[in-house]
Amino acid sequence: MGEPDHRRVDTLVADNPSPLTLDGTRTYVLGPEPCLVVDPGPALADHLDAIEVRLGSLEVAAICITHYHPDHAAGAADLVLRLAAPLAATPESARAAGLEAPEIPLDPGSVVPFGGGRLVPVPAPGHCPDHVCFHWPEAAALFAGDIILGEGTSMIAPPEGNMAAYMKTLERLAALELEIIYPGHGPPVENPAEKLDEYVRHRLERERQVLDALADGAATPVEIRARVYPGLDPSLERAAEGSVLAHLAKLVDEGRVEAAGEKFSLKVR
Ligand SMILES: [Zn+2]
Repeated sequence: MGEPDHRRVDTLVADNPSPLTLDGTRTYVLGPEPCLVVDPGPALADHLDAIEVRLGSLEVAAICITHYHPDHAAGAADLVLRLAAPLAATPESARAAGLEAPEIPLDPGSVVPFGGGRLVPVPAPGHCPDHVCFHWPEAAALFAGDIILGEGTSMIAPPEGNMAAYMKTLERLAALELEIIYPGHGPPVENPAEKLDEYVRHRLERERQVLDALADGAATPVEIRARVYPGLDPSLERAAEGSVLAHLAKLVDEGRVEAAGEKFSLKVR
C-alpha cells in the first residue's frame, strides 16, 4: 500500500445547483491512466464537455455510476459514446438510468481496476434501492454518491428511501478504513469516522423526536413534521414529511409503532 494520493482526484461540479444538489453534482475523475469517471452527472452539454476536456487523450477504464438518479446518471449514455469507455454500474441502475446492460456489471465481489488501483463497490441501499458507494482502498477514499453529503444530510424518503437499510449502510461504511469521503454533493469530508458517527446520531435523534411527537398526540406525518421541524421553510415541508415517513416505516417494522391508514400511534406493550 502506498501513501494515499488525493491529488489524483479531479472534481468537476455540474451547473445544477438546488436545495437538494447543493452547489451541483460532483463528477470525479480518478487517475493515473487508465482513468475512471465516477458519476457523469446530469445531461448538460457544458458539464460533459468539461469532463472530456479534463481527460484529453487519456485512456478511460470505466465510467462508474453510484445510482440511477438523473443528477448523477443522466449524462452517462452520452459520456459512454464521447469517451468510448465501458459503463460500470449495477444492471438495475443501468436499466433505471435508461442505459443498456453495463459492460462492467457491479455484482457482489466485483472490482473496477484502473491506473490508481481499484474501486470496490459497496452495497449502500437507503437513499434508493441499488445504490453503491465506491471504496478506493489504495487511497483510503470513498465515493459516497448520495449516502453522505458534504453539507447537511441525505434525502431518505419512501417509496425509494428506506431508513432501516440506510442505518445499516452507515454501519457498513463505518467499518471501512477511510481518510476521506468524496460526496456526490458538497465538499470532501476529511473526518470520515466523525461524520459517519454524526450521521448515525442525527438519525437516532430524529427517531427519538418522532417517538416524542407520537407520545404527545401527533398522529399524521404532517402533524409529526410540524413538531419535529418547527418553523421550516414551506418549500421543504414535503421533503421533511418524507423523512418522517421513513422513520415511521422503520418503527412500524420494528413493532414499536402502529399504523392505521394515515395515522400512526405508539404501540402499547
Ligand atoms: Zn440521488
